[in-house]
Amino acid sequence: MNSVRDSVQKFVTDLLIDNVAVRGDGPAEQVLNPSTGELLCEVPEASAEQVNRAVAAAARAFDSWSQTSPGERSGLLLKIADAIERCAEEFAQLESLNCGKPYPRALGDEIPAIVDCFRYFAGAARCMTGSLAGEYLPGHTSMIRRDPVGVIGSIAPWNYPLMMAAWKTAPALAAGNTVVLKPSEQTPLTALLFGQVVAEILPKGVLNIVCGRGASVGQPLVEHPQVRMVSITGDVSTGRKILQAASSTLKRTHLELGGKAPVIVFDDADIDAVVEGVKVFGYYNAGQDCTAACRIYAGAKIYDKLVANLASAVSSIKTGLQHEEGVDMGPLISDRQRSRVASFVERAQMASHVEVVAGGKLGAGSGFFYEPTLIAGARQDDEIVRREVFGPVVSVTRFNDDEQVLGWANDSEYGLASSVWTKDVSRAMSFAKRLQYGCTWINTHFMLVNEMPHGGMKSSGYGKDMSMYALEDYTVPRHVMVKL
Ligand code: NAD
Repeated sequence: MNSVRDSVQKFVTDLLIDNVAVRGDGPAEQVLNPSTGELLCEVPEASAEQVNRAVAAAARAFDSWSQTSPGERSGLLLKIADAIERCAEEFAQLESLNCGKPYPRALGDEIPAIVDCFRYFAGAARCMTGSLAGEYLPGHTSMIRRDPVGVIGSIAPWNYPLMMAAWKTAPALAAGNTVVLKPSEQTPLTALLFGQVVAEILPKGVLNIVCGRGASVGQPLVEHPQVRMVSITGDVSTGRKILQAASSTLKRTHLELGGKAPVIVFDDADIDAVVEGVKVFGYYNAGQDCTAACRIYAGAKIYDKLVANLASAVSSIKTGLQHEEGVDMGPLISDRQRSRVASFVERAQMASHVEVVAGGKLGAGSGFFYEPTLIAGARQDDEIVRREVFGPVVSVTRFNDDEQVLGWANDSEYGLASSVWTKDVSRAMSFAKRLQYGCTWINTHFMLVNEMPHGGMKSSGYGKDMSMYALEDYTVPRHVMVKL
């Protein structure tokens, strides 16, 4: 473990306001290594006055930043991408240390996707399209503009701290907005390092970072009259609170909330591919992923085989410390989150029809480990099928026909991600059409690309991250008319 900690020379714990590193004036928040429970550092949160200063800096910077050309902004975003790439190992070490993720996953999966996010939006900023200018009223020429919204308050969760910061800041900045970012109080370290990197590239005030808890720092940001839009990735209940708080100033909101992804496995599916897919996509990041393949519906004919093969695959998932050889899965983010996950499994086990066929216990050691867990025999009305666990727990439910499973899959408050596994293209496409989810994968799950939107329906929210749709979310279409 020391090797990880030693390689991170010094934690950045200062906020970033107007491109100046400032110590938070609020109470200190403890930042832990979830793999061991040890204290890494304390990050003092922003005071109310510092939140105001950060917003004021962003508001001042907006005047000039919003007037830069897409080409200028693009050039700076490319520099940010290059800088993250240059510091890839440092970012990955920090992310891995603060979240407990296996280091190779942070370095090999997350950092390249983050770099690509900035590169994508650097290009996208220069390629926006829209309706044609024309004389829709005789003697008058109309045209459409897409202009930035203003100061954006961006609030990020703890599961992919730097990636969420990238998803929020890259499109917002590309579109000409300025940003005040609040990372999760549990995982501020990579965002704070990112702030230092960005301060050498962007003009002052364009990106500001304030740390702290939701109630003390997030809420004042949401309520601030000069913040014109709030973007949040978090829990559904947090989304509700933010909508309420934003209503007094009628802000735009961009909500990316939870999920409970159905994974529909038909009798003709390639079972080996399903097993390999669920082993990865159900337990990646210890299942702390809003798109995790966590709610399997298995056709009656393949149900038994799938459960047996999955149980042995899930039992083979190796958990361990960030730098241990061959580790697939790290711990949960906190003791609290682990207790929450454990209580879901305990309640599920109370039903006589449910069987825990893999895992189901706390992991060993002082960290917040929980065993990769598979629950068979779950029924549609069971809590374990209906509520987001946000941990390494996957349920399997048997179904008999297409209409039944489609109804069950859509019978959810969530609407973020789904997948269908079958060799029958027509059936796959007809399900893709009828599933009420922001994304449907066919014969895979979890895969995201910066060119395509990520976001939900129903209680999963309506904000789109990545893709041109995110740029649209962070801009306002405006009509300009000239009398000829
Ligand atoms: P959370 O809702 O507890 O916190 C998210 C962020 O909101 C944190 O920065 C927190 O400090 C802040 N916050 C909390 N209360 C606030 C308030 N009243 N006002 C302003 N800010 C407030 O979520 P979490 O536990 O960090 O993350 C897990 C949740 O995020 C899960 O439900 C998961 O599904 C969801 N998630 C969704 C997506 C997506 O793309 N849809 C991606 C990742 C995570």
